[in-house]
Amino acid sequence: MNRDTSRDLYDRALSVLPGGVNSSVRAAPQPYPTFVQKGDAGTVVDADGNKYVDWVMGLGPLLLGHDLPESVQSAVQRRASEGPMYGMPTEVEVEHAEFIARHVPSVEMVRFVNSGTEATVSAVRLARGYTGRDKVVVMQGGYHGAQESTLVEGGPEGASPSSPGIPESFAEHTIPVPFNDQEAVTEVFEEHGEDIAAVLVEPILANKGIVEPREGYHETLRDLTEDHGALLVFDEVITGFRVGGLSCAQGKFGVTPDLTTFGKVIGGGFPVGAIGGKTEIMEQFTPAGDVFQAGTFSGHPVTMAAGLETLTYAAENDVHEHVNDLGEQLRDGLRDVVDERAPEYSVVGTDSLFKVVFTRDGTPPRDGSDVGRANVQRWNRVFRPKMLDSGIMLSQNQFEAQFVSDSHTEADVEQTIEAYREAL
Ligand SMILES: *Cc1c(COP(=O)(O)O)cnc(C)c1O
Repeated sequence: MNRDTSRDLYDRALSVLPGGVNSSVRAAPQPYPTFVQKGDAGTVVDADGNKYVDWVMGLGPLLLGHDLPESVQSAVQRRASEGPMYGMPTEVEVEHAEFIARHVPSVEMVRFVNSGTEATVSAVRLARGYTGRDKVVVMQGGYHGAQESTLVEGGPEGASPSSPGIPESFAEHTIPVPFNDQEAVTEVFEEHGEDIAAVLVEPILANKGIVEPREGYHETLRDLTEDHGALLVFDEVITGFRVGGLSCAQGKFGVTPDLTTFGKVIGGGFPVGAIGGKTEIMEQFTPAGDVFQAGTFSGHPVTMAAGLETLTYAAENDVHEHVNDLGEQLRDGLRDVVDERAPEYSVVGTDSLFKVVFTRDGTPPRDGSDVGRANVQRWNRVFRPKMLDSGIMLSQNQFEAQFVSDSHTEADVEQTIEAYREAL
């Protein structure tokens, strides 16, 4: 497989983009990342013209795959041709917010922003403003974007920033706990209950392997936050409109958070984020309330049209049924392959998410640190390159989830399972 153009583009990129990319994980593949020329249904074509079955799918946003249905395409083109944005409100923002509020159990009002990071930043500010408290509880191995308050490492006994450039004082207000550990979070609330503004949790950890919540874990978080006057914030930036269909992961698990952050799928492939929740809390945002929040591009008409038409198409065409079926076929097939070739590994995922985690003893990960102990070297240096050579594009590292889209076919699934069989 000739990949010289990708190599040469990366060489040029290294001179003008730090690390050669605009988002860290894209540079993870060794020795250089694949530069994409274009998408085509469930595949991507690289800069050298090689075609791969694509399970990256934009790292989550592309629920419909690379071929947008006519309704989405025409809405995007019409909006773009009518002047891309105005700094004044448009009808499509109202329609999109109505769609989300209609389908997501906990959401009465929505504030749109431009990325998942912006959504979690604003949600943390809102929770602090609403409760008058500073502390936030996060999960070890959870991810809430590139924001100061959640880029921390450590545990309940103390946290420090996980990146230079973040003052220690930010981490002082953040309490990381192990996911799925009811005792640990209960103890944290016993000690700090009166100072905790919010628990911020991905309903399924989907940025470090894929880790399912244990039975009763989210109910425990719901009870603790309620008892102590803190907010429960579900970060559904990945799971929103992907896991649990149109009611999202909160619908699937039957737990109602106070606030929800969205991103990825709700922009139909364009930059987006959103915060949703009860009116009483949401109206603390300016200009209804006092918690400052603003953005030049927020509620961008092209994004809103793409997102709304994508979700409408999904609702009318059994998209979630299709992607979840293919997801199950993939996971079933991969389980057979793993049983036969590498029984120490674990097939994880739900609905349209899947991943094979290179665990060492066949025990599916229960928290982020279990995933951290996986055989990352083999995944990065041997396994992923082999998959690439056989025309399968997996996410860029062992930790990122992989995504089924509506454009994928059973043939893509078969080809992928066979490639895993060869590569494992
Ligand atoms: C991707 C992601 C984010 C960050 O979203 P960006 O659009 O990359 O800023 C936040 N939370 C979760 C759970 C995510 O998966």
